[in-house]
Amino acid sequence: SDDDSDDDTRTIVAGTAPGFPPFEFRQDGELLGFDIDLTEAVIERSDYEFGGWETFEFDSLIPALQNGNIDVIAAAMTIEDERREQIAFSDAYYEADQSVLVRSDDDDLPQSREDLSGSIVGAQGGTTGENEVDRLIDDGIIPESDKNVYDNYTLAATDLENGNIDAVVVDVPVARTFSEDLAVEVAFEIETGEEYGFGIRQDDEELVAAVNDGLEAVTDDGTYNDLVAEWFE
Ligand code: GLN
Repeated sequence: SDDDSDDDTRTIVAGTAPGFPPFEFRQDGELLGFDIDLTEAVIERSDYEFGGWETFEFDSLIPALQNGNIDVIAAAMTIEDERREQIAFSDAYYEADQSVLVRSDDDDLPQSREDLSGSIVGAQGGTTGENEVDRLIDDGIIPESDKNVYDNYTLAATDLENGNIDAVVVDVPVARTFSEDLAVEVAFEIETGEEYGFGIRQDDEELVAAVNDGLEAVTDDGTYNDLVAEWFE
């Protein structure tokens, strides 16, 4: 067999972690969101064929990529040095800070990290939001026992709305979406200047280059701006 022949189109399977609107979420069983549309548009611009979506919990995405179950991670994943030790990233495609989400009927809105003293604070496991909760613990603002970790952020936001916890630390665009759909609101932001990238195996330099070319193409032809308008405005 000759798997490397030029007419043998490689199929790219993408992985994501729903529960992170508007980047990736399920509606009536359908997988939707900015990352979903952007990924498909980028792969369509390449010589590869798009092979569909696999879904995981967020902290299972890097192992799934390394095992070869998927070829690309599209999950609003922040480009971080610690992750770079395990996987490669495309160029950045979105920027975001962290935010602290509270219930809308909270009568004593926290305005700073210090104000979270006495609060039970939630985040999705394996995220930069969880890292911020760990910083609250390291700084002695909350004890370890007041940290709640969830499999996805939709579960965390629902637990907040139901009054089981007092705050959720989550990326700003996702917090804004929750505040439109649930009785929760953004109390304040934590400036982290994060950049999201697509995750790709370190030895798959060819796909990194193709995704970067695709990102440039969808930016140049206006597709990127159209998707931002569709999902964020
Ligand atoms: N941007 C955050 C991170 O990379 C959250 C991503 C997510 O929950 N999908 O950790």
